[in-house]
Amino acid sequence: MTIGILGGGQLAKMLCDSAVKQNHKTVIYDPSEDACGRLSADKHICAKYNNFKALSEFGGMCDVITYEFENVPDGTVRFLQENFDNIPQGVEPLYVSQHRIREKNAVTDVVDVPRFTAVSNTKELKKALDIIGYPAVLKTCRGGYDGKGQWVFESADDIADIQDGEYILEEKVDFDMEVSCIVVRGDDTVAFPVGENIHKNGILHKTIAPARLPDTQKITDAAKRIMEHLGFKGILGIEFFVKGDKIYFNEMAPRPHNSAHYTMDACDYSQFDMLIKALTDGKLTQPVLNSPVVMINILGEDKDKFDHSKCHIYGKTDWKIGRKMGHINILENHEGYNNEL
Ligand code: AMP
Repeated sequence: MTIGILGGGQLAKMLCDSAVKQNHKTVIYDPSEDACGRLSADKHICAKYNNFKALSEFGGMCDVITYEFENVPDGTVRFLQENFDNIPQGVEPLYVSQHRIREKNAVTDVVDVPRFTAVSNTKELKKALDIIGYPAVLKTCRGGYDGKGQWVFESADDIADIQDGEYILEEKVDFDMEVSCIVVRGDDTVAFPVGENIHKNGILHKTIAPARLPDTQKITDAAKRIMEHLGFKGILGIEFFVKGDKIYFNEMAPRPHNSAHYTMDACDYSQFDMLIKALTDGKLTQPVLNSPVVMINILGEDKDKFDHSKCHIYGKTDWKIGRKMGHINILENHEGYNNEL
């Protein structure tokens, strides 16, 4: 089959590598000439997301299309779906995950979420803080990532004027651990082992799998429940906060997730392999973790810091500070594993 991917970053690149292993061809669609996905794709259509001529060419050459980031304009996906009907995941997962309030409302029936309320100006923020209490986190509803577009209010002293817009105010959970669980749905729903996520400066620094918790079943069950409840196909990377024996949903993305890059070396099938299987024949097997693992992100400032034999480097041209350039997976028997725990 020919698999099309909207977006041509590192997630697209790793998806292409998995597609080739399963005997498929790949086309990425990305407006950037040096999108690193081109290094592994059979073809790169370099055009804007509103170029309907280029989208028609793309749609016509692909048997199935997926997306590698949640902010692909939904008009782009709708156009492809209406004209080619070859997007098994559909538009809904993007529509839901592009807006933090929509996203939380979609799951509140099946999982606990931090208390939240919508806010659109400073007056509403003050009222909302009276209800939610301190500490609280204000987030833009759209477009925030890696901690951008977020403000923490520890007390009333922190209140400052905000620009009018769409925000969500959430109670700040004093969590013990942040975790994620990646679920894939084809004919069945399968879940990858729960990863423990450690952030630095708002960016994922490392993931330890399995998470160092006495019991992760509850988290896996919640992740599968969310996928089944929403009825999505494909993949969902779901983040949770763990506090004692309680778990709270934080957010989800309908694409491969950075925290599950460990699956490339530690599991029988990676998250990329599994998504390709879900999109093609739909037959999935429960992934097996062959070794405990620590995945560490390599950022622009980490150039030349790592042993190349164990690195996955994405081939991006500019090594900029804070930019995700690659990752390394250290398995249990590898040197340095214990230092990373
Ligand atoms: P997000 O973009 O929603 O994943 O938020 C980025 C980071 O901010 C998370 O990984 C948490 O460390 C922190 N954070 C976000 N929301 C909350 C919350 N309600 N309570 C505590 N920490 C939060």
